[in-house]
Amino acid sequence: MEKELSPEEGSQILRKMTKIKMQATRGKDDLKSNVELGRDLDLYIVSDVVGKGLPLLTPKGATIKRELERFITDEELKRGYEYTSTPIMAKSDLYKISGHWQHYKDDMFTLNVHGEDYALRPMTCPFQFVLFKRKPRTYKDLPKKYAELATLFRKEKSGELRGLTRLSQFTLADAHVLCTPEQIEEEFIKVMDLIKYTMKILGIEVWYRFSKWDPENKKGKYVDNPKAWEHTQKFMKKILDKMEVKYIEAEDEAAFYGPKLDLQYKDVYGKEDSLITLQIDFALPEKFDLKYTDKDGKEKLAMVIHRSSTGCTERTISYILEKTQGNLPLWLSPIQTKVMSMNEDVKDYALQINKKLLDTGIRSELDNRNESIGKKVKGAITEKAFYLITVGEQEMKENKIAVRKRDSKEIITMTLEEFREKINTEIFKKTL
Ligand SMILES: [Zn+2]
Repeated sequence: MEKELSPEEGSQILRKMTKIKMQATRGKDDLKSNVELGRDLDLYIVSDVVGKGLPLLTPKGATIKRELERFITDEELKRGYEYTSTPIMAKSDLYKISGHWQHYKDDMFTLNVHGEDYALRPMTCPFQFVLFKRKPRTYKDLPKKYAELATLFRKEKSGELRGLTRLSQFTLADAHVLCTPEQIEEEFIKVMDLIKYTMKILGIEVWYRFSKWDPENKKGKYVDNPKAWEHTQKFMKKILDKMEVKYIEAEDEAAFYGPKLDLQYKDVYGKEDSLITLQIDFALPEKFDLKYTDKDGKEKLAMVIHRSSTGCTERTISYILEKTQGNLPLWLSPIQTKVMSMNEDVKDYALQINKKLLDTGIRSELDNRNESIGKKVKGAITEKAFYLITVGEQEMKENKIAVRKRDSKEIITMTLEEFREKINTEIFKKTL
């Protein structure tokens, strides 16, 4: 007779099998996954008492997230986006207007409070549309670009929740560009330009996927308006071809309200996923009655581009972690400098150096333990500190520091002022 397995035993075997399968499909270089890097570099944990798909970022992990979000916030503000801050949940009334309740309810976390239905938000759009409608709009107000680092919630299949890539709760660098039909092409090009810029800064390599609706899919996945689907898809294809964007086409991968352009990548296991998406929306402006008064005095419907720029922050971090194998660029490194004393006599000097670096805003750590310098350096390299600074009696006498990069053997001696200028320039330039 076959032995019946307890749920724990079953999931243990499943975990083992998944691991074997993942190892089998893993690249030839045996790269670490973001889960392994997260653990080894102390960036995040997943706790059973908190729940699956809900990672807790450590101070180091939170530093990477903060720097990434600072970068995109500053860049978008420069490009004319306005930042909003909207609630993470709403009554079902809102989702009934947007169609989420009809098309997307199974993927949302719903709750009932005092007899009223609420849901944690899976998308930011309905909230920003309500903000847009707070006053009458004319063509002079457009384009209106609302951005938000939005906390979102989506129900994923339990088996798919993993590391920083598939989550129940995540942060999306989200935005909605509301514009006139005459402006849509120019705005689409501007969005593409922003995305290409962020990809370059982050060193991300992606390919494009044009995700279309499937007219045969009758399971209520899509807004029922075949004419509008055809029209919008043709329009989007025309812009992409004009911009000479190379893409593959995918049927039945659109959002329920419109076709998407997805930026695709593969993780270390070779699994494909979307990193960033942008959509032209024909359905929601009508549902939300997003009108403006045009030059001719007539009321017209605005068009909407839904877009991300750096994607879901957690997933983008997982991509960068896996690609660099934890060797993050200086501006994202949780430890930018590690100051290490050679011996007892220079501890105070090392302390002063570290303090001065911290005062300038450098993320610096001090290692003044009674250990050999070899051991300290090895530890700093394992932690992936970007610059290793050692100070001995010679350096103290000359009022200098000895600096090397974590991946180089070359040691350069310089004054603290020289080093601060160098490192601040590199951080500012976001050198990869
Ligand atoms: Zn949206």
